[in-house]
Amino acid sequence: MPEERRRRPRRCVGCGAEMPKRGLIRVVRTPDGRVSLDRTGKMPGRGAYICPSPSCLAMAAKKRSLSRALRVEVPPEVMEEIGALLREAEVEGDG
Ligand SMILES: [Zn+2]
Repeated sequence: MPEERRRRPRRCVGCGAEMPKRGLIRVVRTPDGRVSLDRTGKMPGRGAYICPSPSCLAMAAKKRSLSRALRVEVPPEVMEEIGALLREAEVEGDG
């Protein structure tokens, strides 16, 4: 189904589940080739998505699926930044 393919559902690079975009963390490879955590969801470049879940981050790290999705090596500091964002989200969730 080419139309489905063009729409490109947002798939978590950790668990592989398809999710609404707004529920996912976006990581982007910017046009100048850097990898950055996209907190606004509006950065230009090739994006990859991950559930806001530590287990998904661990799976993505183990499978290197984030690097594969972005077709560039994801620096460890970006992985750490995602981890930090997850901890922030947990704190907010506790109220
Ligand atoms: Zn996931």
